[in-house]
Formats: sequence, structure tokens, C-alpha cells
Amino acid sequence: MGKYIEREKFAEKLKEHLRCTSKGSVLEAAFAAMLQDLEELPAADVVPVVHSSCVQVNSTQEHYCNECGVEFNLYAYCKELYNYCPSCGAKMDGGVEDV
Ligand SMILES: [Zn+2]
Repeated sequence: MGKYIEREKFAEKLKEHLRCTSKGSVLEAAFAAMLQDLEELPAADVVPVVHSSCVQVNSTQEHYCNECGVEFNLYAYCKELYNYCPSCGAKMDGGVEDV
């Protein structure tokens, strides 16, 4: 699975390096070229991953998503059949909490 970065944050880092380089230097030209390339690259359409956990109520079969609160009566929803909450889509990688 690919990892993504925010274009604007990376551009700010490049601009910081650009400000610290000597005028007319090879480094200045390299950072300027990288900044130009960054602006020209196509953007990917990505959605941030929301992480959640499965909350088990008093060791019963009642479970709910810690992110959206939707209840499930099957533990399998949280652990074995699905890795994502069928309601909000949160990735259920936070384990199981028994409350
Ligand atoms: Zn949820």
C-alpha cells in the first residue's frame, strides 16, 4: 500500500531548505527544481485513515465501534470477518477493549 504526504507541507520544507542555501549555488538550483517538480506532479485522491477499536460490553456479545458508537452483536464484525467498521469505515486495528 502506498504512503502519501501532504504536498503543501513538503513544499514548506523545500522552501525552508531553499532559504538556507547560498544564492546561485547548486543546492539552490536543486531545491528550486524539486519545488517546481512537486508543483507539477499530479495529486492522488486519498482519504485519511480513521483508526478505531472494538469495545466489548462486560464480556458479553455486545460490541460497538469506538469511533462511531454503532453497536454490533457479532464479535466477528470487529475481529474476524471485517477489518473495518461496517458503519463508519474506521479501520479496526486498535484491538478489543472490554468495558
Ligand atoms: Zn464505526
